[in-house]
Amino acid sequence: MATLSSPHFGEDAIERLVEEAISRPSAAALHIMMVNFNSLPLLSLFPDRKCLALIEVKGQNEDSLKALTRAKSKLATVFLEKFGKILSQVQAAANIPQLFGGKAMQDFLRNLSPDMLQQITKYQMNQISLVDREIIEAIVGIFIDSGIAIAKNYPESFDMSQIVKDLMSLRLIKPEFMISLCHKCGNYQFMMSAYAMGDDKCGFCSEPHLLVRIYVFDEYFNELKLQNLDLPLFIKRYIEKMSAGILQAEVSRKINHGEKGEFDVFIDKTKLGIECKVLLHPNVPGTKLDSTAGELLDQLSRYSEAGARRAIVVTNLDEKDSGRVEAKVTETLLQKGIVFEHLRFCYRSFDDLLGSLNEEIRLGTIGGKMEPR
Ligand SMILES: [Zn+2]
Repeated sequence: MATLSSPHFGEDAIERLVEEAISRPSAAALHIMMVNFNSLPLLSLFPDRKCLALIEVKGQNEDSLKALTRAKSKLATVFLEKFGKILSQVQAAANIPQLFGGKAMQDFLRNLSPDMLQQITKYQMNQISLVDREIIEAIVGIFIDSGIAIAKNYPESFDMSQIVKDLMSLRLIKPEFMISLCHKCGNYQFMMSAYAMGDDKCGFCSEPHLLVRIYVFDEYFNELKLQNLDLPLFIKRYIEKMSAGILQAEVSRKINHGEKGEFDVFIDKTKLGIECKVLLHPNVPGTKLDSTAGELLDQLSRYSEAGARRAIVVTNLDEKDSGRVEAKVTETLLQKGIVFEHLRFCYRSFDDLLGSLNEEIRLGTIGGKMEPR
């Protein structure tokens, strides 16, 4: 199995997504391109490299959450002072519940050096005293708690277990570590491993336990995601592949030497501009849509000025909100006298997006006449 540092781990990550889209357009893995990277936790697991992560939570129920509360409360014991070097880091961890939420977890993980992770695992492996155990249990509790808080921030439509499964099989993510806590026997585990690990059941008593798994992304995909380039690059490769190279697409094509921004994707042959807008909070209703419409309007005006005659707008909004934004944008374009021969809005469905792209490919390759709307 390739490791993160292996040069081959992620070379063709986008290619694999394109192949997946062709064979299984409804695959959950594709959804990851409709997720703004800012909604994913960013870990500092390696020097000089930020890793986007996915957090999977399993076994959440009333009993397991009670066990979590018990574990966390152990940190409040008087034993804290006895532990030299690890102490300050544990105290940093202790601030987590007060901060609450995804940001807290990110901060915690940022401060959690590989050194400390090793220390924690080493502690666990040695014969440890009751006091050690309680502190580690508390850390485990805090960690799981923060993981749950982050997982709550994922988009509603996120079927995490399916996405994880699909992304794993495409080798776009790999497990980095996992933490579990059993409500029945109090057993906990903290494991770092690049291999699929940890059963959904407690190793001691076989009860389903509360489990948080943290996955990191393929290195190459990670870099693209951090620059919002995953979706544009996917669209480019999809179009080029499906048109057998007849259509060539350019990503981040500068408009007016960059003074007027850039096309996310541009196809010169058909003068098609594709704007990708992956919002951080696609489910926030109401007012936010106006500013999204405003931004899209500016962008489309620039596209038109730069010679685009056709345009596709891709957002991760749901169908209804996408329709609202479309109505607003179309109306204002009309008022401004900006005319596209074809303008299509795609919402966060790959069926919708791939359908639009296929239509463009058909028109661009058989030389079909592109009727104005
Ligand atoms: Zn157990």
